[in-house]
Amino acid sequence: MLVEAYGCTLNHGEAQEFIETILKQGHKIVADEAQADAYAIFTCGVIKTTEKHMLKRIGQLVLDNSKMLLVCGCLGNINPEAIMKIAPNAQLFGPSEQSLASNVFSDFQHFETVTVSLQSKVGILPIATGCTGNCSYCITKKARGPLHSRSIQEIKQRLEMLVARGCVEIQVCAQDAAIYGHDAGSNLGNLLDELETVKGNFMIRIGMMNPANVKKHLDDILRAYESPRVFKFLHLPVQSGSDSVLETMNRAYIAQDYEDIIKAFRSRFPDMALSTDIIVGFPGESDEDFQASLSLIRRSKPDLINITRFSSRPGTEAHEMTNSVFPGTARKRSKELTKLRFQITGQNYKRMIGQKVRALASECLIEGTTIMRTKNYKPIVIPETLELGKWYEIVITEAEHVYLKGKINHNV
Ligand code: SF4
Repeated sequence: MLVEAYGCTLNHGEAQEFIETILKQGHKIVADEAQADAYAIFTCGVIKTTEKHMLKRIGQLVLDNSKMLLVCGCLGNINPEAIMKIAPNAQLFGPSEQSLASNVFSDFQHFETVTVSLQSKVGILPIATGCTGNCSYCITKKARGPLHSRSIQEIKQRLEMLVARGCVEIQVCAQDAAIYGHDAGSNLGNLLDELETVKGNFMIRIGMMNPANVKKHLDDILRAYESPRVFKFLHLPVQSGSDSVLETMNRAYIAQDYEDIIKAFRSRFPDMALSTDIIVGFPGESDEDFQASLSLIRRSKPDLINITRFSSRPGTEAHEMTNSVFPGTARKRSKELTKLRFQITGQNYKRMIGQKVRALASECLIEGTTIMRTKNYKPIVIPETLELGKWYEIVITEAEHVYLKGKINHNV
């Protein structure tokens, strides 16, 4: 079977759970579609361009109509009509319905295909789906609905399984990890306390957290980050540096809140890695608003900046807004922010050249190279095949825009 996943870590995590069930049933996963007897595609529909890409891919997979096609993930809830038009025989499953999707195969004869061996020690650990927010531009609300947190016990069992399988980098993910447990009388701090008791060699990377909810639970979250098992990596999507744009986006915080959170984190973890997201060209975004985003980025100096040009999604509040930004202006702003992004991330990484750091070997995606992560989750590429799951002492030799290059320090 061929399984493809797109979009965020959460969607990839749900695809990973689907693959695990399929493998337990005795089926095999292949990388080449010609060798597959069936396809499953875990779709994303966060922006219009992604939706178009998904529909194009579904159209390619459906060309061989002798093969079963499962369309899973968010697009099935966002635009099922478009999928059914292209692939009327496809079976549709929404996000978080991976176990229902895998049931389709429980009675099937085992497929005779080739197993793909993945050189990765990264395990994805979904903790919740849905959220409590009401962002005016977000289509994911339609796709994934309200917050539904998994139980601490269920998450812990999955972590034990991933660790037993040899995963050393555990990516804890949700649409908003900061709000974990609010529907079940729990919180992220309680969850991490429990996960810490799992024995084994692993580090946890905490996924995206909405600043509005981090602000509400700052002390608990900071305490959870004290754990030596937690990468000092904060993904805090600010979306805009302008308070009036943040208000029309319904983000429930102001730019100063984002800065206060970063200040609190950096005072405890001075070298932590910061990642943020910015939307440019949101309806009504003036030049002044855009300048506010640029200056916020200059002040906060993230190590990673995801830039998205506003995409109007039918069914959202922002789709009805009439004060759209001229596409040429949005493109220009995106270019300017991208230029700043490379300047800032380049400077952040250049500062590390010559430093000796400890890093964990977690993936080997290209033969002859290994991807390592420092305790602050900074990525280092080493031009050697190293034993995955081990910590090494590395000397940083070069800085690219979004990663570092290094070599093993054989003097230790
Ligand atoms: S939750 Fe959002 S980003 Fe993730 S797959 Fe769904 S639409 Fe895409």
